[in-house]
Amino acid sequence: MRIELSDIRLSFSSGIDVLDNLSYSADFQALAVIGPSGGGKSTLLRVIAGLIRPSAGSFRLDGTPVEWSGRGLQAYQRTIGFVFQSRGLFPHLTAVENITLPLIHVFGQSREEAEETAHQYLRRFSLEKDGHKYPVELSGGQQQRIAIARAVAVRPRLLLLDEPTSALDPELTAEVLDMIAELKADGLHLILVTHEMGFAHRSCDKVLFLAGGRAVEQGPADQLFAHPETPELKAFLDKILEWSV
Ligand code: ADP
Ligand code: MG
Repeated sequence: MRIELSDIRLSFSSGIDVLDNLSYSADFQALAVIGPSGGGKSTLLRVIAGLIRPSAGSFRLDGTPVEWSGRGLQAYQRTIGFVFQSRGLFPHLTAVENITLPLIHVFGQSREEAEETAHQYLRRFSLEKDGHKYPVELSGGQQQRIAIARAVAVRPRLLLLDEPTSALDPELTAEVLDMIAELKADGLHLILVTHEMGFAHRSCDKVLFLAGGRAVEQGPADQLFAHPETPELKAFLDKILEWSV
């Protein structure tokens, strides 16, 4: 899949550019977005999802520009899956209901069809026994795996994940990363904002380092981690890897 972002600018009411002439193009299957807090990573994902329109610049996916209004925008948004850091599930619905809700109300499936799809995905990710549970009855890792199952059950062309493991204990992080790696191996295209540098390095083909709303450094994962070029990325990696084993 090819992504092309050209001179994207976006400012909120404060007037400061959260995305500051961001340009980035790459062919990727799994793209990791890394960078310091407040650098614009979540905002960029929301632009890519078609949820916020930038004030300037253009954005293409596989050569097609995104339409920013009407049915074109709605149709585009339906092709993108989104997983948030945490608390993305509806608390008053069971795991199965969380998965069937968008299938029924957004994609027009019958309840029967949607439940069949939900169970198929739960089985596939060994979550069958959790289908009847409410989010509060599930571990953080199970909740995130249900949230990912919900996002992929609609068969998106691109899955966006915004720090999906940052609220989790290490062993729960591992089970969520395993699931993401499995989806990648199945050929799903994904963009992942993460602080898990090992996963970004080993399981993502491309990495984008975003800081101050700009694409500061980019490249294949191997190259970027082995030979960071900019002082910003070197400092960021030094800091984040300082206490790693
Ligand atoms: P990151 O995900 O890299 O931590 P964000 O994209 O969340 O960064 O935020 C980038 C900057 O934009 C931050 O300074 C944040 O305070 C600001 N920001 C994010 N969302 C909004 C919003 N809805 N209104 C105003 N400012 C925002
Ligand atoms: Mg963020």
